[in-house]
Amino acid sequence: MTVAAILSGKGHETITASDSATLGEICETLAKHKIGAVVVCDGNLAIEGIVSERDIVRVIGKQGPGALNLSVSNVMTKDVVTCAEENSVNEVMAKMTQGRFRHMPVVKDGKLTGVISIGDVVKFKIAQVELEAEQMRSYISMT
Ligand code: AMP
Repeated sequence: MTVAAILSGKGHETITASDSATLGEICETLAKHKIGAVVVCDGNLAIEGIVSERDIVRVIGKQGPGALNLSVSNVMTKDVVTCAEENSVNEVMAKMTQGRFRHMPVVKDGKLTGVISIGDVVKFKIAQVELEAEQMRSYISMT
């Protein structure tokens, strides 16, 4: 199963911010959309970075609440690991586990086309296991 299967279920909506946004504005976006990370993009949806709640907690923990006035470009992770719709869900899981992060932007032709979270992956895997168990039960009941 591929990333495309997850995106066809959850949709391609992406929540983005520009690199001039402040951390305070990023917090508002995270709260409003009930998400854990925002992808920072230019006007053409090319990825410039990613900032997650962990980055914000870390910088506030070090610098105090004044850090909310910092520009996101000072805090975001710039070396973003991405995937393509054709990648398998297992490949994405492996990359997230290896990199110890929970968000994976999906890119097509250099543009952001979706975001997969670890929650999306877990939900997908549980549905897959339940389907396989159901298929096994119905196979056994037929034999
Ligand atoms: P998360 O687990 O997604 O909250 O992120 C943990 C850390 O990894 C934060 O410093 C994020 O900026 C960073 N991060 C999140 N997603 C990615 C990604 N796809 N590629 C690289 N770094 C990431």
